[in-house]
Amino acid sequence: MTMVPLPAGNPPPLPDLRGRFAPSPTGNLHFGSLVAALGSWLRARSQNSRWIVRIEDIDMARAVSGADHAILETLAAFGLESDEPVLWQSQRLDRYQSAFDALKASGAIYPCHCKRSDLAAFNGIHPSSCVKRNAEGRPAWRVRTSSDSIEFIDRVYGRVAQRLDREVGDFVVRRADGAFTYQLAVVVDDADQGITEIVRGADLLDSTPRQIHLQRLLDLPTPCYLHLPLALDSSGRKLSKQDRARPVDASDPVPALQAVLVFLGQKVVSTAQVNDLLWHAVRQFDAGSIPDHRHAHAAMQKD
Ligand code: GLU
Repeated sequence: MTMVPLPAGNPPPLPDLRGRFAPSPTGNLHFGSLVAALGSWLRARSQNSRWIVRIEDIDMARAVSGADHAILETLAAFGLESDEPVLWQSQRLDRYQSAFDALKASGAIYPCHCKRSDLAAFNGIHPSSCVKRNAEGRPAWRVRTSSDSIEFIDRVYGRVAQRLDREVGDFVVRRADGAFTYQLAVVVDDADQGITEIVRGADLLDSTPRQIHLQRLLDLPTPCYLHLPLALDSSGRKLSKQDRARPVDASDPVPALQAVLVFLGQKVVSTAQVNDLLWHAVRQFDAGSIPDHRHAHAAMQKD
């Protein structure tokens, strides 16, 4: 056996691991978004990784004024604070424009006037040659998809594969009103912020192949993925801020944090102190115990 001696001096630094939590400011944090916040924070802390908060306010029509700061204050009350300055997507339009220009220059995207109603006959999946031609007004821009299966390994859901052309169709990266879409912005931001692992709710499992497709077109690295089970209401729907799911109580954080830990299959200590609870939760964190709740969102399973 050959042993390679370690170089003299300091040991090589650990790879720069970086995680993130990227809430949309459409309301204050509710149980479901606290799952994503705490899940991503625990995963980051337990791996000695950085944890960065990004406010995804690119969709200004859905953004609620003041919700960004309310979210940040609530996170702080829960002991979850960004290791780096918080980034707002609304301040990064020039970066999205550059990515858009690169996609355009390479011929990866094309202008499209098809409306949602035009695509109803195709189950909402763009058939890659436009249904509506020579239409007036500003077009949306769609990215071409291919018949290749896009696959990745999710740390909770396992192998995920999707044929974008059949299951999603050519998708919009810039809307007719000029706004860049979430799919484009998130890919640019995760790359610019050097995110190495994305931990978020399983409602976005289905978006991941689109994001990997864009990463490949833009020559960006693909991070690792870990999707967390979705918190569903009693009728099986995802709890969301728009549904006005009850916001978590920032004045009494311990019970909500304990409930999230139980939901994520983690051990819970009994304590009245947020920092004590979080410290134990990091030490005992086990990604392998996170349930996948597959039965609850069978429609999202791709493997
Ligand atoms: N902004 C998205 C949300 O609040 C999350 C996006 C992501 O984590 O990629 O649902």
